[in-house]
Amino acid sequence: MPVLSSVEGSPISRGYGVGGGKDALPRRLTKQERRGSRPLYCPADANVLLPPQTPVPYRLKSRTLNPDMPILDTLGRPVRDLRISVTDRCNFRCVYCMPKEVFGHDYAFLPHNDVLTFEEITRVARIFGTLGVEKLRITGGEPLVRRDIEGLVGQLASHTGIDDITLTTNGSLLPRKAAALRAAGLRRITVSLDSLRDEVFKAMNDVDFPVQGVLDGIAAAADAGLAPIKVNMVVKRGLNQDDVVPMARHFHGTGHIVRFIEYMDVGATNGWRMDDVLPAADIVRLIDRELPLAPITANYPGEVAQRYRYRDGGGEIGVIASVTQPFCQGCTRARLSADGKLYTCLFATEGFDVRALLRSGASDANVAAALSSVWQARTDRYSEVRTSLTPRSRKVEMSYIGG
Ligand code: SF4
Repeated sequence: MPVLSSVEGSPISRGYGVGGGKDALPRRLTKQERRGSRPLYCPADANVLLPPQTPVPYRLKSRTLNPDMPILDTLGRPVRDLRISVTDRCNFRCVYCMPKEVFGHDYAFLPHNDVLTFEEITRVARIFGTLGVEKLRITGGEPLVRRDIEGLVGQLASHTGIDDITLTTNGSLLPRKAAALRAAGLRRITVSLDSLRDEVFKAMNDVDFPVQGVLDGIAAAADAGLAPIKVNMVVKRGLNQDDVVPMARHFHGTGHIVRFIEYMDVGATNGWRMDDVLPAADIVRLIDRELPLAPITANYPGEVAQRYRYRDGGGEIGVIASVTQPFCQGCTRARLSADGKLYTCLFATEGFDVRALLRSGASDANVAAALSSVWQARTDRYSEVRTSLTPRSRKVEMSYIGG
């Protein structure tokens, strides 16, 4: 088995699926090739180019790589999904994500120059595409507050070779943006909505934004041809559990898929307690009593939501049980923050500085080498090891790396 360090022995020099010169990336493999035999793109001279301040755990080490295997982390998980946070700003202040008392008027959001440009984001996504990523999710903060966001969608759709591009939004700006996003290449969309009662929803978004505004956004997305439309509802015991059945009833028969999400200890500012978690099993029982459900198989390995269909043919729902039924074993998600840090878990405490690499003049091959090494060193399974102590660790904020 070849041990790769420095140039010799590198598959690149043997013309391995290569496009242009030594630093060029291999052509993007077809889904069949990625699922079939897996010629691996490998780093050429990665040990040389990483900026000195790169944290030691991520400094590239010689790795035993099998060219026929995908890039897998230490638990054998490939990287399939890249979640891209394009801003740490939002026009909402949801209490479980961006509590106002922390993210107030004097909160220091990322300076403009620290935020990745669309070209930088597209470059990272394209390189991840050669490493196995098949799906891009644009997140935030609230991605639609980033100017000309449809421009980024267009770049991702035409320059990464990745077809499956989706976006998660609070829906407030969708009536203005839906058609342009669809025209730019967005296929489907996820809209957050935590209650159909104005008094509850306004209390949860904490900016007095009405339910109708989000429903108008969902309608605009449907009119624009975005499909499927998923509606994410975070369920917090003592706050909106009485809205679970009305939410299911409202979207039953519409074709839109509601996903009920267990309240999670993301970040370090939402005051999470286990007592506030309504387990997914209880959520399913609540709905099943009124709208009988039957479990259905996942769409693909590693799908986050457990799927259920309505027995009367009224469509399907999903439940995301990160707290009570962790799914880390199938987690194929990498996250890129708006300022270019790569996180390998939603509950991570530190990330790898990709932006420094991008702005240091590194070649595509070097960037790919660094990304592969970060992923291959990944051991994350936070939800499986969550204890009464872990919520207190200084985890990265969800509003910073997107859900
Ligand atoms: S806790 Fe981390 S490793 Fe587990 S599923 Fe979530 S993001 Fe993946």
